[in-house]
Amino acid sequence: MTVHNFYSGPSVLPKSALERAKAELLNFADTGMSVMEISHRSEAFDQLMKEAEALLREVMKVPKNYKVLFMSGGASLQFGLVPMNFLRAGDSADYILTGGWSEKALKEAKSLGQTRIAYSGAADLYRHIPKQRELDLSLKARYVHMTTNNTLFGTQWHHIPETQGVPLIADMSSDIASKPIDITKYSLIYAGAQKNIGPSGLVVVLVEENFLATAQDNLTTMLKYKTYAEHDSLYNTPNTWGIYMLRNVLDWIKSSGGTEALAIRNQEKAGLIYGMIDEYPSLYLGHADKESRSLMNITWTLPSDKLEKEFLKGAEEQNLIGLSGHRSVGGIRASIYNALPLASIEALKQYMQNFAKTHA
Ligand SMILES: *Cc1c(COP(=O)(O)O)cnc(C)c1O
Repeated sequence: MTVHNFYSGPSVLPKSALERAKAELLNFADTGMSVMEISHRSEAFDQLMKEAEALLREVMKVPKNYKVLFMSGGASLQFGLVPMNFLRAGDSADYILTGGWSEKALKEAKSLGQTRIAYSGAADLYRHIPKQRELDLSLKARYVHMTTNNTLFGTQWHHIPETQGVPLIADMSSDIASKPIDITKYSLIYAGAQKNIGPSGLVVVLVEENFLATAQDNLTTMLKYKTYAEHDSLYNTPNTWGIYMLRNVLDWIKSSGGTEALAIRNQEKAGLIYGMIDEYPSLYLGHADKESRSLMNITWTLPSDKLEKEFLKGAEEQNLIGLSGHRSVGGIRASIYNALPLASIEALKQYMQNFAKTHA
């Protein structure tokens, strides 16, 4: 059975990464055991972890002066860890609100210290990514927090904001490794793995060493980024299965031509679905402003609840799965991450075309 998986997260993984896991499940690296059953202090796991980190550094072009951390607790825990570690008494942090996840990040920071809203797209239902001149950034901010891709609303930054030396922190959960990025523009990047690079429960953090050195120390051990940096993410037992799958996915990214090739593919894939939205604008009402459109999550509504239900029901009959919008937004959302094959995009496009011919 061919299923077209448009779930927003956890979401589709590369078939080759899953097939490799299947082949290696009962005998990982000639240990005679699965990777879930071996010590995180064993030679075989140590090798795996080194390979995963090296692949991540290669695929994402992570500079030497950045630490790679493997953490857990989801991106949602990062919302709190960032201010705990970096927002000291007397500091204020700037938050750029471009969707529900940015709001949640702000909520955690607010409970720990002083914050400012440098931009909010709430008034226009987060259709829009701000231009530089729309940002009200403070030069005195301890850091600026942004969300590079807004999973719920289907918008994405296509530029990096200029913060004039203020450390920039980004939640990249839903577009990490989907295109080449200049890591040096960010002081800290975090991403839950379950959209583009692996299973849920693993979080990847990239942090610049000098910035990390400014983190405060009066926190319990597992809440400090420094603990993970100083112990190569092995202070306690990490998510060994998550790191294993991350390795498989990164290996697939590398052999697919890296983030450069993925960026081109992602443009083409998104273009086919946005093409349908543009061709039938009175049936498929795109949520995002054109210039803010996400290449990872495409969101639209139909003119009535009845039509939306019919659209979703018909889609499911064609094995087009996971297309209903986030509960806070409604409508339709097609999540089309790195690993979603072109054939799935073509199937959705064809379905949208047929639906439009019978309903427009
Ligand atoms: C999915 C998502 C999150 C939440 O991730 P969890 O791992 O469930 O905590 C946070 N930010 C963004 C941008 C997301 O897409």
